[in-house]
Amino acid sequence: MPIAGIYGPDDFGPVHGQPAAHTRSRVSPAVRAPALPMPSLEWTPEVERSTAHLYERVKNVVSPVEWPFMAPYIKAINELKKTRDAVILAHNYQTPEIFHCVADIGGDSLQLAVEATKVKSSVIVQCGVHFMAETSKILNPHKTVLIPDSRAGCSLASSITGADVRLLRERFPGVPVVAYVNTSADVKAEVDICCTSSNALQVVESLNAPTVIFLPDQYLAKYVASKTDVKIIAWKGACEVHERFTGDELRAYREADPSVQIIAHPECPPDVLAEADFTGSTAHMINWVRDKRPRRLVMITECSMADNVRAELPDVEMVRPCNLCPHMKRITLPKILESLIYLREEVTVDPLIAEKARRSVERMINLKN
Ligand code: SF4
Repeated sequence: MPIAGIYGPDDFGPVHGQPAAHTRSRVSPAVRAPALPMPSLEWTPEVERSTAHLYERVKNVVSPVEWPFMAPYIKAINELKKTRDAVILAHNYQTPEIFHCVADIGGDSLQLAVEATKVKSSVIVQCGVHFMAETSKILNPHKTVLIPDSRAGCSLASSITGADVRLLRERFPGVPVVAYVNTSADVKAEVDICCTSSNALQVVESLNAPTVIFLPDQYLAKYVASKTDVKIIAWKGACEVHERFTGDELRAYREADPSVQIIAHPECPPDVLAEADFTGSTAHMINWVRDKRPRRLVMITECSMADNVRAELPDVEMVRPCNLCPHMKRITLPKILESLIYLREEVTVDPLIAEKARRSVERMINLKN
């Protein structure tokens, strides 16, 4: 069914973008425990020996020239995790040396949200973007949640505020609101339920409503609308990485090699999805590759995911139109190390906002279970 309408900040005038001061989550440099000494970062025979098993995991995508610069950080981070009683959660878009060598749990935002509820460690280091760290804090209010670089934002999360959701509710009274997890805590607190790209259709249909407001990704909204009879009212947000792909680009890959397989993320525009052999979330894309083992593959999503898959499945040749997420790439090994040494930067969410946002996230998680 076509989208019933797409709204954006211009439709609501100057109120957009003005969340109440108490609704903003904060990142503080607060240090609850003393900083630890900086470990040695020299490349030594001992570092080489103790990280050899980790290099095995990434040798297809990290060259032997690069490894001596990474390995000392990896060794230090893995040791500091124990000292700090910390767990590292890494999104699929993190680089291979982070995803395969220091992360305890990797996955898409749904997997990370679910795993965040099970961790026993007192500290969570979120290798991803800010809304993911906020979600971990919302689900783990008594744990210390750190993000190695608080500037790691997201064009979707910054496209809408809680005030915008309230205005949408005034315009469409009684219509339930679904928020993609790529939103701030302030927005999650105002909606009925959250979703990810893995479960967006299931969440929309679970509401048993003829019309649903779906925000903030207009392309994911269009994709869901194409799969359901529920009328979808969308928001004008977009992922700055996925909206840059074009159908022409995909057709050129297919003309160059008609046997190539193309898989795409539903945050891409409709003309891109129309050219793809498969559309799915990052987790669904990875499962598809594991299952089908294509000879040559174009993965229409953030670049690092292709590296992470290739590290695991070297027989799959990746043909990559490379779009990097500048926010995800703010997270690096040196910043993760500093995060553990200084316990920074700590993500906090106002408890009243967190309580309301938790309901929306847990409603989604319980639906899955
Ligand atoms: S890839 Fe897109 S949706 Fe994901 S964090 Fe970057 S800007 Fe946000």
